[in-house]
Parts: sequence; structure tokens; C-alpha cells
Amino acid sequence: MQTSPEKSLQLGPALRIGVLGGGQLGRMMIQSAMDFDVRVEVMDPSAEAPCRHFTHRFVQGDLNDENAVFEFGQNLDVITIEIEHVSVPGLRRLEKQGVRVIPKPDHLDLIQDKGTQKAFFEAHHIPTSPFELIETSAEAGKRGYPIVQKLRRGGYDGKGVQILKSEADRTQRAFDAPCVLEAAVDINKELSVIVARNAAGHSACFPVVESVFNPVANLVDYLIAPADISASIEHQAQALAVRVAEAMNFEGLLAVELFLDQSGELLVNELAPRTHNSGHHTIEANRTSQFEQHLRAVLNLELGSTAATHPFGAMVNLVGSASAMGTPVYRGLTESMAAPGIHPHLYGKSQVKPFRKMGHVTITADSRAEAIDQVMLLREQLAVDGLSD
Ligand code: ADP
Repeated sequence: MQTSPEKSLQLGPALRIGVLGGGQLGRMMIQSAMDFDVRVEVMDPSAEAPCRHFTHRFVQGDLNDENAVFEFGQNLDVITIEIEHVSVPGLRRLEKQGVRVIPKPDHLDLIQDKGTQKAFFEAHHIPTSPFELIETSAEAGKRGYPIVQKLRRGGYDGKGVQILKSEADRTQRAFDAPCVLEAAVDINKELSVIVARNAAGHSACFPVVESVFNPVANLVDYLIAPADISASIEHQAQALAVRVAEAMNFEGLLAVELFLDQSGELLVNELAPRTHNSGHHTIEANRTSQFEQHLRAVLNLELGSTAATHPFGAMVNLVGSASAMGTPVYRGLTESMAAPGIHPHLYGKSQVKPFRKMGHVTITADSRAEAIDQVMLLREQLAVDGLSD
């Protein structure tokens, strides 16, 4: 039976929260939800999803199937996501039935399409790199080279994003689909700000995080917080994240990915309306983790303090080695834990593949130099290989 929105905010086992997506983000959310003693139910297309054995109800289903999403969410009090590629029509139907849906379907609709995101930034005077929307690969050369081409829909973790450097690149590998064509930014730093905003319009930002990329895997190599930027840039980045959340009238947790360019200007790259890779260190390094904060925002509770509990937090992704296949073997991990402030998080994936995200390690440290030294040591020590059957 549906409860009223007020009643549904009471923590305890009567509160039923549905999560679309059962990967590592959902799994870490469940760890926080256990402290609230709420009932978490999960839907994911994979029978092997990392949340599979840690949920009150697991439904294997297609997240983009309107009816499957609708059926999963019926009778839940609240529904949220750990991945943005889900059926918006299904969520709209649930909302009409009185299920509290956070993030709101309109926000998911906006964010699922990189083209509408960019148009939103432009309409609200939110700084972003100049862009144009195109329909086919033939148009990908119209702004000259180098140029960044992004699939409007369906990309993730750098897949669906490429830099075209020449006409030869365009003819050989331009995406032949609706895309955003955007000016290549001369990036000084890649930053992110995770901001939570509740229904009362209160918002809270985590300290700015700096991401360092691995160009081969096109995945975050490591990240560190607070970012090595001036206090003025830090305030501007956080103010920009709040401005974006307010312009959207956003409710929930919003990761705002930013570029700091070589001239010192901040540009919004893209948004994720959920917990984010750049917030994993908050589990150990901040008073409230991004996962608890997400739940607080979803349940319309008071937001928690985002203050750091250690001077520095860093995070290294554990990704499959270049040729790893089979059952994962985490080489060097137990040895690495002898150092202070090293916290492993394995995601429970049964099979490793090249560059697949298998876990992460958080580092808490007293200085930036100590944090980076530990990162470098971990990068030498750790490897995720596969044992083939
Ligand atoms: P995804 O959604 O797949 O993570 P992003 O839009 O974040 O895609 O792009 C992935 C990476 O590509 C960014 O982190 C950045 O390194 C690079 N990139 C994206 N847009 C630009 C741009 N306009 N100029 C330069 N590099 C970019």
C-alpha cells in the first residue's frame, strides 16, 4: 500500500526504496541504507549484478523498458537511480501513482541527452564550451579540427566521446549518429563538485575534487580532494554547481563535471544526477558520504555535513589489466593495506575484463604529497588479473 509522502520519510523497515541499477554505486548506497534500516529493492538487467545478494528484493529487468520499470516501482515509497539510462516514461507513470521519484523524470530526460544538457547550459548562461548539434558524420567537420564529438545518447565512461583531429579521422571513425560537436578545451584541470539539494531548496557541496585521467583507458586514473586550486576557483566551482542545481530546481545528488581551462575559466562539461566516481573517497574522508547524502536528499531529510575529516582524500580505481579475463585476482591488494589510511572497496564483479571497473582504493592522508606518494605506490603494487576457467 502507498504511504503518504510525510509518512514515507520515517526511517525504518517500513520504508521501501527502489533503485534502478544494481552496480557498485547501488551496492555502496545499500551500505548506507542499512544504517537507516530501510528496505532497498533493486532492478538490474544482469543476474550477476553486484547488488544481487544484498537487497531485499532483486528484479532482473531491462531498465529502459517502460513497463518493467513501472511494475518494479509500483507500491514502493521512493524510487531512485544509480545509472541515468533508465525509462523516463516508466518513472513518470510511477510519479503519477504517488511514488516519490528522485531525481525527477524531467531531470533524467534532460541529462540523458548530452545535446539537451548543452542547450540547457546555454539557455541559463552557464559557462560551457561552444557547441553545435549534428545528425550525421558528414557534418562532423563543419567546425574544423581538432573537435570533440560526443554521442548525444548512451555514452558512458568516455565511450561515445572522441577527438577528431583531421578530415582523415572524420572519414575513418566519426560517429554517424546525432552528436554534440564541441570545441576542444585546453584543459588545465578536470574538476568535479558533488552537490546535494533537497525539496526545501537547501544545498550542500562537497569539496572540489580533481580527476587525473588515464589516456589509454579513458578512465579516471586517480582523484584527489581537495583539488590543487586557489580558494577563489574553489568557491567559483562550488557556486557554479549550486547555480546549475538551482537553475534545474534539482532534487537529489548532482555531480557537476567541470573543466578549468588554461586561461583560468571554469566550464561545465556534463552532469550526472546520482552518486559519482569522483565522490567515493567521501566514505572515509568526509563527515557524510556521498551515498548517505544521496539517501538524505532522496528521502528529503536534512543534508549532512560535507566537511572533510582528513586533510586529503584520494582514490584509485581498480580496473582490469589490459588482457585480463575470467575470475578476478586482486594482486598486491592485501599487501597494500599495511600502510595507514588505505581502504579497499571491491565491487563483487564475478568476471574481470580489460579496463572494467572492479573496485577502488581510498587513501586518507595528512598532506597532498603523502596522498600522491600512496597513489603512485598503489599504481605499482596493484593489478587486477583474471583466472580463466
Ligand atoms: P563521459 O560521459 O563518457 O564520461 P565526458 O563528456 O565526461 O564523457 O568526456 C570524457 C572525457 O573526454 C573528459 O573527461 C575529458 O577528458 C575529455 N573531453 C570531453 N569533452 C572535452 C572537450 N570539450 N575538450 C577537451 N576534452 C574533452
